Amino acid sequence: MEGKMRVGLTPKIRTIEYEVRDIPKPKPNEVLVKILHVGVCGSDLHFYEFGHHGTAEAKFPMVLGHESAGKVVEAGSAVKGLKVGDKIALEPGIPCGKCEFCRGGRYNLCPDVYFMACPGIEGSFAEYMTWPEEMCFKLPDKMDTIEGAMIEPLNVGLHTARMSEAKPGKTATILGSGCIGLCTLLSLKASGVAEIYVVDVIEKRLNKAKALGATAVINAKQTDGIAKALELTGGRGTDIVVDSAGTLQTAQQTVALLKRGGIITLVGMSNEPLIPLDLATTLEKEGRVQTLFRYCNLYPAGIDLVSSGFIPVKEIVTDYYNFNNLQEGLNFNLDNKTDVVKMVIEFDD
Ligand SMILES: [Zn+2]
Ligand SMILES: [Zn+2]
Repeated sequence: MEGKMRVGLTPKIRTIEYEVRDIPKPKPNEVLVKILHVGVCGSDLHFYEFGHHGTAEAKFPMVLGHESAGKVVEAGSAVKGLKVGDKIALEPGIPCGKCEFCRGGRYNLCPDVYFMACPGIEGSFAEYMTWPEEMCFKLPDKMDTIEGAMIEPLNVGLHTARMSEAKPGKTATILGSGCIGLCTLLSLKASGVAEIYVVDVIEKRLNKAKALGATAVINAKQTDGIAKALELTGGRGTDIVVDSAGTLQTAQQTVALLKRGGIITLVGMSNEPLIPLDLATTLEKEGRVQTLFRYCNLYPAGIDLVSSGFIPVKEIVTDYYNFNNLQEGLNFNLDNKTDVVKMVIEFDD
C-alpha cells in the first residue's frame, strides 16, 4: 500500500510529536495493519513520565504503545491464515522461537524477544505497522478492536489465574485494582473462583471491581485492609493472594492474607529491588510465593473468553482519546491517575 502515515514519537518526557513516514511494506510473512485501538499501559506511562520503567532506561525518541488491535490492509505473499479486512489483535512480543524457553513453551522468558515499546523497539502509536502473521490473532465478527487491544492486559490476568491454580472452590484476594488487578479479577472469576476480595486505596477503581463482580471491596485508606479482609474470611485468609499493585507494602501484606497451603503471586512490577517478606510465617503456612512475567500462549483463550461473553473486558476502560490528541490524552492520564482506570487511544478508520 502506497502512502504516508503518522507515527506518535516521544522525543522527551511528556511529549508527543507526529512524524510523517512512508507506510511500511510487509515482508512475505507479515501483514500490514491499520491500527485502530491501543491501550495505554502503566509501562508506557512510566517511560513517558520518568524516562525509565523499572531498570529499563528509555531510548528517546520512542514510539510507545503495545496493547494493539486493528485490521489487515495488506498481506505478505506467504501469509496463509489472514486476509485483507480481518480484524486482529497483535501480540506485542515476537519470541526468537529457537532458545530453550521458546522450545519449552515458555516463550515469555525468551531473552531475545522483540517486544513493542521496549527501549530500541517501536510500539504501536502509529497509524500503520507491519507484524508477523503468527503474532496476529483474528477477532470474531462480534468482537471489536477495543476488546482486541484489551486482550494484552487480560492475558496477564489469565496467566496469573493459571499460575495461581485457580479453580472452583478456591478463594482469592487481589491487592490493587488497576487494569491488571481488574483483569485478574475477571480471569479468576472465569476460572471458577467465586469468592474474591479486592483491596485498593482509590474509590473509583474499587467501584469498578465491585461492578465487575468482586465479592467485597476494601478501601485501605479508610480501614485496615488486612484486618478487614481477614474478618471477611473468618480469619483464615484466601487460597490465592495476588499483588498487582507492586508496592513494597502490598507485597509484604500478601503473607498475612494467605490461607494455609495457599499461593502468593506477585504480578505488579516493583521499583524496589529488595522486598523483605515474612518467610517464617509463609513457611508455617506452607505457602508458595511466585512471580510472573507477561504471559504466553494465551491470545486464543483470551479472545474466546471475551467473544463468548465470559469476560466483559471492555468494561474496564474508562477513558478514550483520539490519536490526534495523543499527548493531551497521555498527560491527562498522568495528571488524573486516581480517576482514569484505563485509557484506550482510538484511531480514525
Ligand atoms: Zn501492557
Ligand atoms: Zn527464544
